Amino acid sequence: MKKIGVLGAGQLGRMLALAGYPLELDFHFYDTSGSPSAGLGDMTIDTTSKLDNPALAKFLRQVDVVTYEFEHLPLELTRHIEQHSTLYPSSESIRVCQNRAEEKLLFKKLGIPTAEYRIVNNPNALREAVSQLGCPVVAKSTTEGYDGKGQFVIRSIEQCEQAWDSIGHSTLIAEAFVDFKRELSIIAVRSPSDEIAVYPLAENAHQDGILRYSTAPAPKLKAEIEQQATLYIKELLHELKHVGALTLELFETENALLVNEMAPRVHNSGHWSIEGAPCSQFENHLRAICDLPLGGTDAHRTTCMINIIGRKGDIPSIMALPYAHIHLYGKKERPGRKLGHITVQADSLEELRWRVNNVASFLPDNPEFSGN
Ligand code: AMP
Repeated sequence: MKKIGVLGAGQLGRMLALAGYPLELDFHFYDTSGSPSAGLGDMTIDTTSKLDNPALAKFLRQVDVVTYEFEHLPLELTRHIEQHSTLYPSSESIRVCQNRAEEKLLFKKLGIPTAEYRIVNNPNALREAVSQLGCPVVAKSTTEGYDGKGQFVIRSIEQCEQAWDSIGHSTLIAEAFVDFKRELSIIAVRSPSDEIAVYPLAENAHQDGILRYSTAPAPKLKAEIEQQATLYIKELLHELKHVGALTLELFETENALLVNEMAPRVHNSGHWSIEGAPCSQFENHLRAICDLPLGGTDAHRTTCMINIIGRKGDIPSIMALPYAHIHLYGKKERPGRKLGHITVQADSLEELRWRVNNVASFLPDNPEFSGN
């Protein structure tokens, strides 16, 4: 039985383990947050961040391959792990994906289109960038941002100081505001033998920077958009020699497809694949890092994933719906926190919309699902 070491012990780690036990994989989590929620597998809690911690050495001796559920990890830690074990995806994927400036450089190198941007190191440079790009501008910290944290939409040049102070980072990226029709994502998985499996694109609806709904396959998607996104992600997988899951977040505009950012891991917009595809993103990630054959990624039917954010709502009423698959993550309620998700499938978009809104009516604060 292979033992998988997972850095981080939140819901993504938990779902990795749930997908891995049927493959006779075993799990050992290494939590640096002090508040693990995975609720299964072996657990080491180490909040010291010290490379010479005996707990880290013991963890590395016990596992066959190491992966992670969160890319904002110290690079020294990931490089140390590579010297003592196998880390998939590699520290190079982490280095690029944890820094928006590095990501953009790589996209540029590969000719992958993005919003126009500037990297700035002080409020005056931000002002200059905003005057060049024209308002609105989305200012983001280059590192450590997720779920819309560390961001500010600058609507007039006078707001530059306020944006700089409120983000509070030494380096920002200022991006031209993209007037997108919708947000999409694509997830692909690559094994060390260079087998690649690509999931259908998902359409993602956010509120306050947090994903609320993912629908896959993205409704009414033009074939050329799917082809472009597939090409981009394959180029990135090869360039990074990436092993495991990679997610690309995209903006679809009236006449273009722009890449927003990427994550070197399984992603919230791929949770639909647990029930919606023959092999989920979690199982395929594990297959890839163990160099096993990859599984099928086609969607059985149109599937929507509904996030449970902040408060759990009326779970028993959702359980009573014959089409709702519930996943709870074992986390306490807190505003903006991802507590679980529900997957719904249907034979038509109309039926999907009806079912999703029915589920959402039992969840406090959930926005209306419009589908497409
Ligand atoms: P991010 O952390 O980059 O994924 O951004 C969080 C959310 O902010 C995205 O899902 C978009 O809804 C929005 N956003 C980010 N960048 C831009 C942009 N350049 N133009 C318009 N909206 C954006």
